[in-house]
Amino acid sequence: MNGVFDWQMMAVSGIKYSVLGTSLRLPTLSVSLTLLLSIFLLPAVAKDSRPNILFIMSDDHGYQAISAYGSKVNKTPNIDRLAKEGMRLDRCFVTNSICGPARAVILTGKYSHLNGYTVNEKVFNGQQQTVPKLLQASGYQTALIGKWHLGSDPTGFDHWHILQGQGPYYNPAMKTAKGIVKHTGYTTEIITDLTLDWLEKGRDKEKPFFLMYQHKAPHRNWQPGPKYLDHYKDVEIPEPETLFDDYSGRASPAAKQKMSIANDLTDDDLKLSPPKGLNPEQLEAFTKAYQEENDFLKRARFTKEGFIRWKYQRYVKDYLRCIDAVDDNVGRVLDYLDKSGLAENTVVIYTSDQGWYLGEHGWYDKRWMYEESFRTPLFIRWPGKIKPGSVNTDMAMNLDFAETFLDIAGVKVPTDMQGKSLVPLLTGNTPTDWRKSVYYHYYEFPQPHHVHPHYGIRTERYKLIHFYTIDEWELFDLEKDPQEMKSIYAEEGSKAIVEELKKGLVGLRKQYEDQE
Ligand code: CA
Repeated sequence: MNGVFDWQMMAVSGIKYSVLGTSLRLPTLSVSLTLLLSIFLLPAVAKDSRPNILFIMSDDHGYQAISAYGSKVNKTPNIDRLAKEGMRLDRCFVTNSICGPARAVILTGKYSHLNGYTVNEKVFNGQQQTVPKLLQASGYQTALIGKWHLGSDPTGFDHWHILQGQGPYYNPAMKTAKGIVKHTGYTTEIITDLTLDWLEKGRDKEKPFFLMYQHKAPHRNWQPGPKYLDHYKDVEIPEPETLFDDYSGRASPAAKQKMSIANDLTDDDLKLSPPKGLNPEQLEAFTKAYQEENDFLKRARFTKEGFIRWKYQRYVKDYLRCIDAVDDNVGRVLDYLDKSGLAENTVVIYTSDQGWYLGEHGWYDKRWMYEESFRTPLFIRWPGKIKPGSVNTDMAMNLDFAETFLDIAGVKVPTDMQGKSLVPLLTGNTPTDWRKSVYYHYYEFPQPHHVHPHYGIRTERYKLIHFYTIDEWELFDLEKDPQEMKSIYAEEGSKAIVEELKKGLVGLRKQYEDQE
């Protein structure tokens, strides 16, 4: 062992020497020899010790529903572990706040207009360069388990076992390279079982792994698992301050959306009709759990406001029940990493594909550049590298994930990726020229939620949004108005800042090659 170590050291110092003095023939020759010998000797003694990367992503998990971010509505002790043992990033933004497009950004490190996946009904072009492909080529074992939702089959993964499309909350038939596999049970638990099984039996122990463990939950229509049906039963969930936003402080699009708790939740969403695809036992438990409240609803005489409040409680409780299962199952995986000894050399990331409205502005869903859906949770644990309990407030983006993974793995980042590695931030060394603004672009319209396309720029203090198909603008002062209730775009005193932000916006659109 020592002998090999010495050979490598000689080779390394020799390279330096030969670079510094290329005219010296003899040392260069001996360097080539030592290099050859060390390469020949290496595989017998050293396995690839680069860190494993476990990427945990849920779907539609807003930061407001994570206790490490100060949630007023729930507790997430297992996700919080990653904050305690690693870093909590308070300002991670997405480039396009919607499921499939966000996933495509993470895979490619490119904005939607360049990776081609702008709206959910697109099919992801798996022929293009992606981070799993680059990691795989560098010697990582790559695996994907859970939600994928990109239309085409995954590429760049040694192993995959995915939900078909959105996938159901119960009894999913999942897709693998060999065909469809039917499962019985609760999807959040099944995805975790498959993940633990792969970690235990599917892993090539000679290689580091890149594992994407991706939940469907807590995506609409929020069906809790059998163990979680009675959570929050006798609890009143606090309402957000902006539940009754009347949109009078904004441009026209906010009032025209179809994603309000008041008007757009269906009987399925509210569990007023029994879920489909459950077996008799599951259906009985499910029906029983909602019976009392549904009976109450039949007798109740609500005011308009009272009915919105009732719907908010029912919606948010189901949403939180789904998160309780995600949190428990993240805990199972973290426990496995500890028990197996993998934790020490595994970088664990927890995030969501985007943020979410838990009743803020009267909404569920995502899409807008307003903070709740624009920001996404992000925790990263990296033993020995990240100081436990650290917090970062620099502007990070999901656009940065691909480059961050490559940086962690020591793989060269392709020049056409558009993000920046977060590794310097993780180690407390934010570069002085780190981004001071973020560019956003949302496309999907009109279906399903009638949110007008928009792009915009967010700086430390301001957010300028352009609903470009109808040429309407909004400007928010996030310092004075953190809930974004009143656009000051048209105010006389805003002229200078509007001009400055418009310049910044043009610059970002040019930088990211967004000419649409
Ligand atoms: Ca989503």
